[in-house]
Parts: sequence; structure tokens; C-alpha cells
Amino acid sequence: MTSASLSEALEAPASTPASRSAALEAIAAEVRACTRCRLHAGRTHAVPGEGHPDTEVVFVGEGPGLNEDRQGRPFVGRAGDLLVRFLATIGWRREEVFITNVVKCRPPDNRDPEPDEVAACLPYLQRQLQALDPALVVTLGRHSMGRFIPGARITQAHGTVHPVDPATGAGSALVYAMFHPAAALRAPDVERQSYDDAAGIPAALLEARRRRVATAATAATGAATGEARPEQAAAPEAFPAPPPPDASPVDTALDAPTFF
Ligand code: URA
Ligand code: SF4
Repeated sequence: MTSASLSEALEAPASTPASRSAALEAIAAEVRACTRCRLHAGRTHAVPGEGHPDTEVVFVGEGPGLNEDRQGRPFVGRAGDLLVRFLATIGWRREEVFITNVVKCRPPDNRDPEPDEVAACLPYLQRQLQALDPALVVTLGRHSMGRFIPGARITQAHGTVHPVDPATGAGSALVYAMFHPAAALRAPDVERQSYDDAAGIPAALLEARRRRVATAATAATGAATGEARPEQAAAPEAFPAPPPPDASPVDTALDAPTFF
């Protein structure tokens, strides 16, 4: 890195709550007008996603269903009610996180999105993740998991954390896989496992924060010694305070999705 680009990187303005809100609203406006794939033809409303612009945690489902298409909001039907119940068991509310989907328009008859539809829509998710820069991405179901942990099997990966490919837009996040709540509605066994997996989210967030703090420290050292700074590392002041080193088992004061 040249000294000019190093100083530019160090002086790049950190994102602010207002700039994140503006970026998310600009993406949502593009999604509402989008005709990039055939799914636009059958939609009542596109569903860009919603939540707190300063959250550390993003939930990613598959695509809008009937209720979501009617309201233009994610996870507002029965699957959404169950997601809200999962969150309630760990003391979280949906307004504290960001909730979105891999495709933003409803596939007809709730069929799986086709690969070309997913490919057309992915840049929106990528930009949302870049704007939010979450510590933790929680995937809901196989299709979402497949974007973040290619090749993983949901029966094995659920309830576990994995590093995220920076190409997803969430370069400094860990990903935590869960079953889709709609699958939990169909199978009591999956529902039970999902409650267990939900109970693991706060610990996954703590682990994700520790990793970000460590990454930021490495990046800061790299910058000081003139080494290239990883593209995805945000300014250190954008990070929440690190948990104390003895924060395991989970310290309940630290396991809520705080906002930076
Ligand atoms: N299922 C999803 O994957 N997303 C929604 O928004 C609703 C149901
Ligand atoms: Fe555009 Fe995504 Fe809707 Fe396709 S699903 S029309 S790419 S917003």
C-alpha cells in the first residue's frame, strides 16, 4: 500500500447511524423498483428487509411468502411468529436485529428460488451486509446457509459458527446456521432443535465480537507497520467494547445485540 492510499484508508470516514440508514433506504428503494429477474412480475410488494440500522446481527431467510408479499415486510406470517418466539427466548426483539432474505420478491407458490434469480438478487444482500457490517449473520434454512457456508449440510451445520467469505459482503462476521422456521413449523423435532439453536445465538455473538476485536487489533498493527489493511476491517472505534476475557460461560449483560 502506498503512503497516500494508507492515509486515505486511515482517514476514511467511519459509517455513522445516519449513513447506514441512508444506505439501507437507498438499497430498499432500488429493490422496490427492481426488474432484474422474473420474480418481479408476480410480486405485490418487494420485501427489501427491515431492522435496526446499527445492529450487530442480521438474520437471512430464503424469500418472501404470501404474507410478506402482501405487506412488503419480512417474516410476518407464521414462520415469522415462530422466529419472534425464538428471539424472545433469548430476550431479543425483532426490532433489535436486521431481517432480510436471499431473494426479495416472492417465488410463485413459494417454490425455491432458481439459481439465476438468486444470482440476480444477491448484490442487494451483499450491499445490505456491507452497509450493516454485522458481527453475526444468522442463516435461516438451507438456501440462505448455502450463500454463506457453501457445501455445508444443514443437519450438521445448524447450531454452529463458521467464518464468512468476504465476497458475501459480511467480511468481518461469523455465520451461525439455523433451520428455517417454516421447517420447524412442519416438524416438532426440528422445532425442538431450533429452540436449542436459538439458545446458542448469544454465545455465537460473543464469539463473533471477540473475533472482530482480534481482527481489528491485527489490522491496526498492520497499518502501523505499513502492511496492507484488510479491505473489510472497519475503523476500530466502530467496534463494540470487547467482552472481558473470562466472559464464558455467557455473561447475560453482554449477550444482547448492542448497537455501535
Ligand atoms: N420465509 C422466508 O424465508 N422469508 C420470509 O420473509 C418469510 C418466510
Ligand atoms: Fe429484483 Fe431480487 Fe426481486 Fe428479482 S427477486 S426482481 S433481483 S429484487
